[in-house]
Amino acid sequence: MQMIAGNWKMHGAVADIAPYAQAVRAARLHVDLLICPPAPLLPAFATALAGSAISLGAQDCHAAPSGAHTGDIAAALLYEVGAHFVILGHSERRGDHAESSAMVAAKARAAALAGLTAIICVGETEAERDAGQAEAVVRHQLAHSLPEGFTGMVAYEPVWAIGTGRIPAEAEIAAMHATIRAGLTGQCGPAGAGMRILYGGSVKPGNASALLSVPEVGGALVGGASLKAEDLLAIADAAPGV
Ligand code: PEP
Repeated sequence: MQMIAGNWKMHGAVADIAPYAQAVRAARLHVDLLICPPAPLLPAFATALAGSAISLGAQDCHAAPSGAHTGDIAAALLYEVGAHFVILGHSERRGDHAESSAMVAAKARAAALAGLTAIICVGETEAERDAGQAEAVVRHQLAHSLPEGFTGMVAYEPVWAIGTGRIPAEAEIAAMHATIRAGLTGQCGPAGAGMRILYGGSVKPGNASALLSVPEVGGALVGGASLKAEDLLAIADAAPGV
């Protein structure tokens, strides 16, 4: 079964929760659906989705269990208010907050200790792809962002495809996902063979069917199109059947 994960980024308000939750609860799903709203919306979202099969995730966590880290959020608190997943190392965090792969790995360790499943994002910039370095960059990010004993998921998100409407060719996605699969089995052993690898970057209802059918694509991480429940559900509908 594939996973369709919606990343609301810094969008959304309390008033959006009820209609969104009503729409996703009413859907017949053949995928795992995950919503990652801004952290302050998690408690109310958890109430609105209680008893459904839809999961909630956060968009980041701190590497420490608690402490003097103004503005940061501990993984255990995210879990306590209803998150079971956390996106880590999104390119917007790597860019806006200078997060290194080592920091991402530390956060992933904290997430696992708190019971959160991490979705670790990797992906090259346009300049890196143009320079023929895309696979090397992603291999390096993978090698340094996944902690020992990692049991979560990876999202391949070419930075140049995020929010731009541009997507890689299917063959490029297939090649990168094969590279990531090889990296996962090398780093995580047999467990790496079954880990989900999501594709993210301008996934929309109109291109989802093709993208989700690429070999080794185990679902999608969806930004902009996840803000409308009907679009996220159309993407979920486009996933191959079980
Ligand atoms: C993302 O934020 O992870 C993302 C893939 O965004 P978008 O779908 O808007 O490109």
